[in-house]
Amino acid sequence: MTQIYNFSAGPAVLPKEVLQQASEEMLDWHGSGMSVMEMSHRGKEFITIAQEAEADLRELMGIPANYKVLFLQGGAHAQFSMIPMNLLRGKKTADYLDTGIWAQKAIEEASRYCEVNIVASAAPQQYRQVPQQSQWKLNPDAAFLHYTSNETIGGLEMFWTPQVGEVPLVVDMSSHILSRPVDVSQYGLIYAGAQKNIGPAGLTIVIVREDLIGETLPGTPTMFNYKVHADNESMYNTPPTYSIYIAGLVFKWLKAKGGLAAIEKLNIEKSELLYDYLDSTDFYNSPIALENRSRMNIPFTLKDSTLDAEFLKQAQARGLLQLKGHRLLGGMRASIYNAMPLAGVQALVAFMQDFERAHG
Ligand SMILES: *Cc1c(COP(=O)(O)O)cnc(C)c1O
Repeated sequence: MTQIYNFSAGPAVLPKEVLQQASEEMLDWHGSGMSVMEMSHRGKEFITIAQEAEADLRELMGIPANYKVLFLQGGAHAQFSMIPMNLLRGKKTADYLDTGIWAQKAIEEASRYCEVNIVASAAPQQYRQVPQQSQWKLNPDAAFLHYTSNETIGGLEMFWTPQVGEVPLVVDMSSHILSRPVDVSQYGLIYAGAQKNIGPAGLTIVIVREDLIGETLPGTPTMFNYKVHADNESMYNTPPTYSIYIAGLVFKWLKAKGGLAAIEKLNIEKSELLYDYLDSTDFYNSPIALENRSRMNIPFTLKDSTLDAEFLKQAQARGLLQLKGHRLLGGMRASIYNAMPLAGVQALVAFMQDFERAHG
């Protein structure tokens, strides 16, 4: 098999060791004679898998006991509706920060359920820099404040936590969860689709403070009620069992690597390698303000965009895949999640240097 490096934004690269273990366990999980895919979600084997996955995630993130961990489906998109349905709790308005395309999707959906107050927008900065909190127009009566801590498409990451007093903080961490330690106790709710930095598509993780759940908008579907999922330990209906199993293996892989502080070090090293190179040349450009440069999704452009197609073709020939930028933004984007080894970023930079030498 040829060595490739997959820079896709999601579904994305998974740790080789995890895929290896899953392949060894594919036909017979721990002597059960069954694949995990074939197990009843109510059987003791799968319940062990799910409980261990939750315990490992709690340990990795330091999740306090008064938070529920939910293994749901429907992607981050379903959360765009579930959040207002569950967290408005009698209020009519919610605060949202506009940092880019994913924040806007959340805003658009929330607008169906409540008045959305946009506390600030990065639009005047062309979504290349997040406005400082001193410029935000917070509403003290807001049911919650929602923000997107890493804009997967724009490549904008926030490395600080907004301070909003008693207003619950809700964050879409889809594309950087588990890339660095976070203080869960500062949040009312954290959510993330699994297919970026956790595991396979089909699983969505929600971490929610338990006092916030239980009061839903009239007409909320049962499947959209956090309390129902919490009371049933994420087994109200059939959960995405295989995705939970793989996520559990990823959690164990992260623990063996030394946890989130250790993976953060590696993520800093990987992203600095690429940014330092981008900054050292005029041939390429990184558009994002220094303090908001994502460690996970790194967009960049070639000064001469007529070379884009050739760049992608040659990158592909070298086994460097999925570097094309999002269709809405163009240019390039390298997604370098936890599972991307340092060698992958080194190979990318070496290719970019060669390409510059040949075309610069
Ligand atoms: C990918 C992504 C989403 C959408 O996830 P789905 O699973 O497709 O619903 C939302 N927010 C962010 C930040 C993302 O990266």
